[in-house]
Amino acid sequence: MALLDRAIARLLPAVPRPLVQRISSRYIAGETVAKACRTVKQLNEQGKMATIDVLGEEISTPEAALEIVGAYHDVFEAIQSEHLDSNVSVKLTGLGLELGYDLCKRNLQTVVRHAAESGNFVRIDMEDSSCTSDTLRMYRELRDEGLDNVGVVLQAYLRRTIRDIRELAPLRPNIRLCKGIYIEPPLIAYRDFDAVRQNFVLCLRELLRRGSYVGIATHDKWLISEGQRLVEEHGLSRAEYEFQMLLGVTPAAGDRLIRDGHRLRVYVPFGKHWYSYSMRRLQENPKIAGYIAGDTVDRLFGRNGA
Ligand SMILES: Cc1cc2nc3c(=O)[nH]c(=O)nc-3n(C[C@H](O)[C@H](O)[C@H](O)COP(=O)(O)OP(=O)(O)OC[C@H]3O[C@@H](n4cnc5c(N)ncnc54)[C@H](O)[C@@H]3O)c2cc1C
Repeated sequence: MALLDRAIARLLPAVPRPLVQRISSRYIAGETVAKACRTVKQLNEQGKMATIDVLGEEISTPEAALEIVGAYHDVFEAIQSEHLDSNVSVKLTGLGLELGYDLCKRNLQTVVRHAAESGNFVRIDMEDSSCTSDTLRMYRELRDEGLDNVGVVLQAYLRRTIRDIRELAPLRPNIRLCKGIYIEPPLIAYRDFDAVRQNFVLCLRELLRRGSYVGIATHDKWLISEGQRLVEEHGLSRAEYEFQMLLGVTPAAGDRLIRDGHRLRVYVPFGKHWYSYSMRRLQENPKIAGYIAGDTVDRLFGRNGA
């Protein structure tokens, strides 16, 4: 299967751009804030919350990072004026992390302050392991400065995550817990499917026990039911946690969560760099190319993904 996924990922650049656009339109809201807002509105009408992500090219200048800061400002204005139920997700590399820690931190502070002006919230996505320590340090520094409308992501495949949870616990952090999407070496990451699942459950239990608000971000049916079991075991009301899914992925499973009385937030990426973003992500993790190919074939044959 891994071989087939890698073959699909390698063939991608040869796929005509309009076809890639058609396939990715299921997972990416479009190029403009207006398109992202239209998608969020539809999700809100289905009882789903959203988190909007501005897709960035690999940032190579401070000006490009500032452009992303500006795009988030427009997003906050649109969320407010259209009364949408959405927060935002940011990637620190998009805000210039590779150009310098301090530059990136200033940009993040600006985005978080813009969010605070309209009572909104910023989630810092977690990128590959070269960014983990800087991301958690920056999160901690913002919280120490009194910026509380910010949360971060932890990845269950990383061996360090359970330690990170314990170290962050005094801040009662707002955490999105996901499996992790990048390919990491076995020295620092669990690679076995079941080991990642088991660590996800361990981390989730620890976060809930220590009073964190958790966004349980997964489409894995087994983990979703473990998540449901754990929030019930901890006696949480529906406002004290949420499930999260990616736009276009297993929407029927999301509908079921809503029907069962849980809250669900959908990750809505948009931006003019959708093509290079899609290519990069698909080639970074060929498993995703495999998922999408499988899903596309299912659709062609009329089978509906749950
Ligand atoms: C809201 C949200 C935010 C995320 N943020 C981050 C982040 O900041 N950092 C990070 O490293 N990772 C992030 N991820 C990705 C995450 O780490 C996983 O790689 C991804 O969710 C797949 O894992 P899974 O738990 O859904 O289980 P899997 O077992 O991988 O997937 C379960 C099923 O879901 C479907 N599926 C899953 N992903 C896709 C996809 N992309 N396209 C099509 N079908 C798919 C497949 O049918 C698959 O069988 C995020 C995920 C979500 C839902």
